[in-house]
Amino acid sequence: MKNEIKILLAAPRGFCAGVDRAIEIVKKTLNKYGSPVYVRHEIVHNKNVVESLKKLGAVFVEEISEITDVSRPVIFSAHGVPKKVPEEAKLKKIFYVDATCPLVSKVHRETEQLYRRGFDIVLVGHKNHPEVIGTMGQLPKGSIKLIENIEEVKNLKFSKPLAYVTQTTLSVDDTKEIIDALKEKFPKIKGPIKEDICYATTNRQAAVKKIAPNCEMFFVIGSRNSSNSARLVEVAKKSGCKNSELIFYGKKAPLEKIKNCKIIGLSSGASAPEELVQNFISEIQKNMIVSIEEVITANEKVVFKLPKELN
Ligand code: SF4
Repeated sequence: MKNEIKILLAAPRGFCAGVDRAIEIVKKTLNKYGSPVYVRHEIVHNKNVVESLKKLGAVFVEEISEITDVSRPVIFSAHGVPKKVPEEAKLKKIFYVDATCPLVSKVHRETEQLYRRGFDIVLVGHKNHPEVIGTMGQLPKGSIKLIENIEEVKNLKFSKPLAYVTQTTLSVDDTKEIIDALKEKFPKIKGPIKEDICYATTNRQAAVKKIAPNCEMFFVIGSRNSSNSARLVEVAKKSGCKNSELIFYGKKAPLEKIKNCKIIGLSSGASAPEELVQNFISEIQKNMIVSIEEVITANEKVVFKLPKELN
């Protein structure tokens, strides 16, 4: 006889408006300009998305220098790019379409304005993440100090007025601790008017926080290089579900681990297609009697316009 299991399904989960827009940009560029179309870096951090776009004619490269046919368009990924990237494309006369999420572009504009106004700038984020590379690359080298954790606040020394910005996909709670520490050490530090952690990151973490304490195990569908998916696993663990894990590309539902669970939680990162969530549930359904309760903590209606080149 099959065991019964209840899945608490987080909502919102999965694709955000920035990811939707970036994928649409690749498809529309292919429609308008034909294939191949180059994409610099994974358009969003999800292998399934990347593979499906490759089938339509997208060619993924890490740098502009890898583009062999300069007559073809190139698209910049949703994470944003350093200023030198469009400059290099212009120099080589390569037509480009920028799929940087508008909420990442907002952080870029903030850093530029702060720099112009003479501030020293601290960026709270994860070293080597493409978004962080893109944000730091809006200004001359050495103009932004990156900090990753509260420990690093202790060693900071600044002589000019100070301001901070953050990566968009950080842990809301961990970032608050770092910002509180910054404010304690530098009471006059200037922050963004509207915070930089985006609505999608905030909403997905809030949904996980609500569900995780009631679950024996929690699963997040997403890629290993997806910052917001990794944060969802951390949030689930910190909220009381120690047995939380990421289900990344190629990893199956861990049926052996959940066979004696009564309640598990499920969510997905902002770059993970809903199809992967449904496949995960179907795998469990083959082995167990599943009931699903969707726990809705916010309704999202955000839609971003496409770049003018594609209208
Ligand atoms: S996670 Fe947030 S910042 Fe990143 S693409 Fe989605 S909406 Fe934009």
